[in-house]
Amino acid sequence: MKLPTDPAANLAALIRCPSVTPAEGGALAALETMLKPLGFAVERPVFSEDGTPDIENLYARRSGNGPHLMFAGHTDVVPVGDETAWTHPPFAAEIANGEMYGRGAVDMKGGIACFIAAVARHVEKAGGPKGSVSLLITGDEEGPAINGTVKLLEWAAGKGEKWDAAIVGEPTNPDTLGDMIKIGRRGSISGSVTVNGRQGHAAYPQLADNPVRGLVSLVDALLHPVFDKGTKDFQPTNLEVTSIDVGNPATNVIPAKATATFNIRFNDTWTAETIQAEIHNRLDQAAGRKKYRPGKKTPVDYELVWRDRPSHVFLTRDERLIETLSGSVKATVGRKPALSTSGGTSDARFIKDYCPVVEFGLVGQTMHMVDERVALADLETLTGIYQRFIEDWFGQDHAVG
Ligand SMILES: [Zn+2]
Repeated sequence: MKLPTDPAANLAALIRCPSVTPAEGGALAALETMLKPLGFAVERPVFSEDGTPDIENLYARRSGNGPHLMFAGHTDVVPVGDETAWTHPPFAAEIANGEMYGRGAVDMKGGIACFIAAVARHVEKAGGPKGSVSLLITGDEEGPAINGTVKLLEWAAGKGEKWDAAIVGEPTNPDTLGDMIKIGRRGSISGSVTVNGRQGHAAYPQLADNPVRGLVSLVDALLHPVFDKGTKDFQPTNLEVTSIDVGNPATNVIPAKATATFNIRFNDTWTAETIQAEIHNRLDQAAGRKKYRPGKKTPVDYELVWRDRPSHVFLTRDERLIETLSGSVKATVGRKPALSTSGGTSDARFIKDYCPVVEFGLVGQTMHMVDERVALADLETLTGIYQRFIEDWFGQDHAVG
């Protein structure tokens, strides 16, 4: 039987499945077709929750005697946007000038296609890894992410699955393949602060309490001083005020309420709890300041609301995992990748609760854009890197955890 050793063929099959979240679009079925001949046992659990679409996911394991490597990713893709703006149709996998076009080409059907090709080549060449390989693939990464990776991990762990390390195949390279491995991610938390004032005539401010004055003090305290200067592995913690809303159409009316919304990306100086305490503290202190509210006797009357659940900061400390992947990149492209914690959150933040996790995939330049595409040469290179990693990681004398 022909094994799925060609990453371009694998990717073309996946791109031709229009799996815009939450649609499975045939993508998981296509994966199953590729994985079965390689000896994977494939399951496709569907998860549901009130108020969100049902999502089909895939967990495939090729069992062996030895350590257990997980490859994690998603087959769902973001919408195509203006389809007429695409040079080549978004679900056709057409090739032009050495590049394959299609939604998901780099984010991240391409990464999955390469990993499967790497396993297939290893099976063909050496009979497969001396250990277990799993693919944990969700159809809900680009959507609400409720019926995806979190539930899939719980479901698999509930059946007794344990992993020694994981690679997430998201596009981590900013410009060229081999630039960057992600070894952690900053935490993220959002909140909004609303100041309650007293409405009145703009010409008689002594009869009113302008909440915008109070909000300016509070926002100033959010932005200054800086939270930290960054750490060995992380950029400085940063807070962005993302919106200030008063909703007041009149110029001669002092409004009754004003709200500011903010997002914080925090490093390992903080936890979600300590950064929340810091924000409370800053706001309490600023609420008493009179700079913008001369003559007011009471502190600023404010409410702070935290939005959603925070994403926690993490840093992977498995040196062997990081060194093996870094070495595979160096051996394939001739230079060492940067080890980075930059960028937004990813599903690695959930996987880190089960095993050490790193992220490495294609070049991210065209992700989510019209004309998303990948160089065929990059598909070959990434397949080579993954194959080398599989050989070296399983080849090592592992303490199986
Ligand atoms: Zn992605």
